[in-house]
Amino acid sequence: MNIKIADLEFEPLISAEEIQNRIKEIAAELNTDYKDKAPIFVGVLNGCFMFMADLLKQINVPCEVAFTKLSSYHGGISSSRRISDDFDLLVDITNRHIVLVEDIVDTGNTLDYLVAKLTHRKPTSITVCALLLKPDAIIYPVEELRHVAFNIPNEFVVGYGLDYMELGRNLDGIYKRVV
Ligand code: 5GP
Repeated sequence: MNIKIADLEFEPLISAEEIQNRIKEIAAELNTDYKDKAPIFVGVLNGCFMFMADLLKQINVPCEVAFTKLSSYHGGISSSRRISDDFDLLVDITNRHIVLVEDIVDTGNTLDYLVAKLTHRKPTSITVCALLLKPDAIIYPVEELRHVAFNIPNEFVVGYGLDYMELGRNLDGIYKRVV
């Protein structure tokens, strides 16, 4: 069923059930890769909050959880390239294995910036796990992006943590803009 958010119309793209099934597969990969490594899962707010919560419920290795906050969309429907560093990661990541948990990788600008920033703090490793990737939009490829739940077309999406004008984050599935 199509929905309206503010002035835009959206149609279903990925169902809640598909998301949960894919999260189980990704968590199984991470449980194998991070056995005995005590990783720190770092969520990139705001968009990661649902994905982070559902993913972490499926993780069964000892791990820590932390957050940082960046923004680049500033309420609209396209990336501004201007990144605001809203709040920094408060844990020491030196000599630790880091799993960055992102909502969506569009141009890759935000992720490229964050990985470079965290690399300076000398973690043992950084791996990125993203819910969504728009392969046709990538300008800054990030080598550390190793787990992607869904590749999607280069279109604006909302739901499951992602917003339009701060609305729609509470939806349990992903919806794409009807153009
Ligand atoms: P990038 O820096 O890769 O171009 O953009 C990444 C950020 O832009 C994401 O973390 C997210 O906040 C925002 N973003 C990119 N594509 C979309 C989209 O289709 N919908 C929404 N709601 N946000 C997006």
